[in-house]
Amino acid sequence: MAAAAVPVDLIIVGAGPAGSAAALAALQARPSARVVLLDRAPLGRDKVCGDGIAPHVSRELLALGIDVTRPDEVVPGARLVSPGGVVASRRPRAPGHVIPRRVLDARLLQAAIDRGAQFELEKVASLEQSTTGVTVNGRWRAPLVVGADGSNSVVRRLLGEPANHGSALAVSIRGYAPTPAGTGDELLFRWDNQRAGGLCYAWAFPTTNGTSNVGYAMSSAARRGGRRVMEGRMHALLPGFDLGGIELTGHTLPLTTRRPRPAVGRVLLAGDAASLINPFTGEGIYAAVASGAMAGRAAVMDAASAHLVYSAALAQRFARQHRQSRILYRMIDHSITLDTAVRASAGSERTFERLIDVGLGDAHFSVADFARFGRYVGAGSRASNPS
Ligand SMILES: Cc1cc2nc3c(=O)[nH]c(=O)nc-3n(C[C@H](O)[C@H](O)[C@H](O)COP(=O)(O)OP(=O)(O)OC[C@H]3O[C@@H](n4cnc5c(N)ncnc54)[C@H](O)[C@@H]3O)c2cc1C
Repeated sequence: MAAAAVPVDLIIVGAGPAGSAAALAALQARPSARVVLLDRAPLGRDKVCGDGIAPHVSRELLALGIDVTRPDEVVPGARLVSPGGVVASRRPRAPGHVIPRRVLDARLLQAAIDRGAQFELEKVASLEQSTTGVTVNGRWRAPLVVGADGSNSVVRRLLGEPANHGSALAVSIRGYAPTPAGTGDELLFRWDNQRAGGLCYAWAFPTTNGTSNVGYAMSSAARRGGRRVMEGRMHALLPGFDLGGIELTGHTLPLTTRRPRPAVGRVLLAGDAASLINPFTGEGIYAAVASGAMAGRAAVMDAASAHLVYSAALAQRFARQHRQSRILYRMIDHSITLDTAVRASAGSERTFERLIDVGLGDAHFSVADFARFGRYVGAGSRASNPS
């Protein structure tokens, strides 16, 4: 079977942000490489997501030589609301974008194809590793594989790495509702009262077509009462939105608080397959693009040492944040934690920017940041900044 397999330089499973970034980076590093991207869904598929694109994503993509955003997709403001009702509403120095994933992922994949990647509509079901390479579906063979097949990763399962569960996994619902007047220039992010088990929040992110992407995510450890409870909480936290009758779709978010080995032999895991979603905000596109790019670059340099190069690069970028998140995440159920963080962001632009970099990028809090938070502990439960 392996003898009939088509030899290529790199096989990437999954053509979402992580997979397309891996292809773009591999071909940036070695333009002559034969890179095959396999996805079970055609170009232009949707992905259940908030569609919020952090500025860190745009920076990472510019480094890969592409710009997939349009000026009208910019959302200049961000409104953070804590469980206790503290509000921080500001215009970040670098604004985010809202781009429906059907559009964003097609732009990314098309950019990878334009750079020379070969896209194949193919569901991956098998993977065999030997000392010299990996055979996928018995049809393709390469020295390296990047597994970028999302939160229910088959590649990860085939490597024997268990899936996330409990407080390290969030469940979510998402739909599109008309954008209420006056709310179209802000990303609304509203944390819920935490329910003994981790992340719970609602969001409303305005798109360019008069609708907002709305949804609710909840740690699977906190999940009680199923979807009905999630819908009820979403309605309670987004009172200005007409949510009646909108179509809601569910999906899971594997959080960084429990991660698999990033590389097993000649297979590198990137994006959701590597459980890289921020446990405080649900951000995963930046981590997917960043990890995919690192994996793609490492994969075409030296196949024999790619697992070491990739693991080291990932640790250098994210290890401090991941370590800190694991500790802080245990405090998320106490509403004072998020109330204080949002109050400090309302009071200080510097703290607001820091929160954005930690929640959406790869930064971590310094001792000085914690000292600044300390000044806002318990300082009036409903304080908000005037902007
Ligand atoms: C409700 C919700 C809201 C979110 N909101 C945001 C947000 O606003 N901003 C943000 O940054 N992040 C958000 N996230 C997280 C974000 O969606 C993910 O982190 C991101 O999509 C990860 O990208 P990826 O490339 O790793 O995986 P995916 O985008 O899931 O892509 C995986 C690809 O693999 C393919 N695939 C799967 N299995 C196979 C197989 N067996 N064979 C071949 N192909 C396969 C799929 O078809 C898919 O194209 C949200 C997540 C959820 C669930």
